[in-house]
Amino acid sequence: MAVPGTQEKLAILADAAKYDASCASSGAAKRDSRGGKGVGSTEGAGICHAYTPDGRCVSLLKILLTNYCMFDCAYCVNRISSNVRRARFSVDEVVKLTLDFYKRNYIEGLFLSSGIIRSPNHTMEELVRVARSLREDHDFRGYIHLKTIPDADPALIEQAGLYADRLSINIELASDTSLNRLAPEKNVGEIRKAMGRLRLRIEDGHDARKSSRHAPRFAPSGQSTQMIVGADASPDVEILRSSVNLYANYNLKRVYYSAFSPIPDASAILPLSAPPLIREHRLYQADWLFRYYGFSVDEIASAAPGGMFDPALDPKLAWALANRALFPVDVNTAPREMLLRVPGFGTKVVARILAGRRFQRLTLDDLKRLRASIGKACPFIEAAGWTPGAKLDSTHLAARMARPAQQLDLFAAAPVASPVTARLVLQ
Ligand code: SF4
Repeated sequence: MAVPGTQEKLAILADAAKYDASCASSGAAKRDSRGGKGVGSTEGAGICHAYTPDGRCVSLLKILLTNYCMFDCAYCVNRISSNVRRARFSVDEVVKLTLDFYKRNYIEGLFLSSGIIRSPNHTMEELVRVARSLREDHDFRGYIHLKTIPDADPALIEQAGLYADRLSINIELASDTSLNRLAPEKNVGEIRKAMGRLRLRIEDGHDARKSSRHAPRFAPSGQSTQMIVGADASPDVEILRSSVNLYANYNLKRVYYSAFSPIPDASAILPLSAPPLIREHRLYQADWLFRYYGFSVDEIASAAPGGMFDPALDPKLAWALANRALFPVDVNTAPREMLLRVPGFGTKVVARILAGRRFQRLTLDDLKRLRASIGKACPFIEAAGWTPGAKLDSTHLAARMARPAQQLDLFAAAPVASPVTARLVLQ
């Protein structure tokens, strides 16, 4: 078979990486090019995103070093038994591509992952070589996110953290039993240990920077992970509980949720169809309720009968409908904690309400000007000149507020370029 050229390898290895959701550069510390030196910056121009056919926004350059892999994880298109076209970049090729794409303003940085070749250590060494060359040989100051191989030597992960902004290790499934069943070569204990070591090292790095701004940075944007949704029977609440434990135990910056897509020649132990993408969306909403809105997991779970979020109602609205006795909330007097529980009020809107009500009693029109989602909020609030009256107790309220879940397809009219619709989940 002919050896693929760079363009072809790029097509294979970018396609193989596009479904990994954990690529956002949010929380990246600023790097700049002051003094006319260096290449790249995490601020300003140079940020470019692409949309996957199912509507997710992903950053370029997002590639695998190789899609060869010696493991056989049932849910992964790159497993050793998969019948896909393989390719492999050299370290120099990835470095050149990153620099070329960056200079053309196509990308904000590099998201690099890899299948496992030869050994976890060998693979990790190659990933580190890319990052080292970009930083040391080319003074690249753009964002770098490296996937790390949990079984690799901690010394290699230490080096990775000195060059990358963010490191991630995919936990992959909410249930250890499912991971053992679907990815028997992976070691849940090792994955957790690696995440624990990373947490400690990242915290040490932050402390060192507090004592001296000359101390080397270590993964300043922290660590993240990804969980597949729908490859096993874990319900939404189990996935959310698992995320909450991960946030607490490993101080993760983000947990990304990635809806499973059936892969070609899939193992019989996998589901035949993909879960609706709305599941992924509801999990992100629930995740935010926990992290930014003061909800406990039990509260969120209480509005998810059978452990599954209602596809037609966002979890905050579902909770409010199930707890109507706590409403209406007076926007002119209620504490912040209660305002955050009003459907249609985000954290920014609540901050604006708290600032605005110091000077006047707020009306519904004021709330509209503050960008509150009035249609959602008004049955649950009181404002100057407004009370929801019987609306709040109406038996039809849930039905009126529910939006039938619709699976949108951004590229519905476009021809399908590739038959590969597999979910890719890497270490
Ligand atoms: S998930 Fe990672 S280790 Fe498992 S088969 Fe895919 S590339 Fe290999």
